[in-house]
Amino acid sequence: MADLQAIVEEIHAALSPRRGEGRVADYIPQLAHVDPKKFGVAVVTVDGAVHLAGDAQEPFSIQSISKVFTLTLALGKHGEALWKRVGREPSGSAFNSIVQLEREEGLPRNPFINAGAIAVTDLVLAGHTPKEAIGEIVRFLRYLADEDDIIVDQAVARSEQATGFRNYALAHFMRSFGRLDHPAELVLGVYFHQCALAMSCRQLARAGLFLAANGTNPLTGHRVVPHLRARRINALMLTCGHYDGSGDFAYRVGLPGKSGVGGGILAVAPGKASVAVWSPGLNDSGNSLLGSLALEMLAARTGWSVFGA
Ligand code: GLU
Repeated sequence: MADLQAIVEEIHAALSPRRGEGRVADYIPQLAHVDPKKFGVAVVTVDGAVHLAGDAQEPFSIQSISKVFTLTLALGKHGEALWKRVGREPSGSAFNSIVQLEREEGLPRNPFINAGAIAVTDLVLAGHTPKEAIGEIVRFLRYLADEDDIIVDQAVARSEQATGFRNYALAHFMRSFGRLDHPAELVLGVYFHQCALAMSCRQLARAGLFLAANGTNPLTGHRVVPHLRARRINALMLTCGHYDGSGDFAYRVGLPGKSGVGGGILAVAPGKASVAVWSPGLNDSGNSLLGSLALEMLAARTGWSVFGA
């Protein structure tokens, strides 16, 4: 394999002429203000080497990528009992769909669709005020990335709080089935703030590194989760991490990944590296268009697909 830094730079250069393609999410008004031409790639290998290209150091709204980290936190607090609140199956429906919730009496299909993530956030909230829970999530990300300057973008949080009607509907619907322990407004207060976390590709790749390294963060030596749990979170990312485009992402890239409507994707190459890409334009499944292509190229060049080189 050629030098990894050269590969990352080549991929960035090859895709750069296409910056601005895709559709920037605008249903959260504040996200529509992002420059559609931003494009960053960060690869952090399990031995700590960092490879960056483009806008890899600029913070962006991580949105649904936060769901990986709140799932990790909630599993740490509640263990396997978490799975009484949320399933582990891909949904095949839109990320904010309410249809399956009705059929399954308020039990969300998986922790990465909105309903499932809201149920997970409800568990993170246990024993806390919303403010404390938000603080815990931010501290967890700082601990994982080993960087103190990770913050919540309050303008994005407020924007979603003011317009997230579908999420209010999902939460109230689940609460009507007794699936949430806390009032919908409180759970969503936390959920909107976790989605509004602003992180750079480099920070995200660092934060996700424990998933590539059997649960231990090689940068700090901290064991974040047991080995088996890291493997299981990766399995969920592979099967459920890209909305109803998860099958296509597995086919094209072959790595566990989680995308967000801010245009970021966190991908994990087990035993190898953690990768974060950002380009705000989304494809038809709501995943970063250029980001997905960059990861497809990276997997092809490195042979990192979990399905074989
Ligand atoms: N905060 C966003 C929402 O709930 C997250 C969506 C996403 O990134 O998938 O609509």
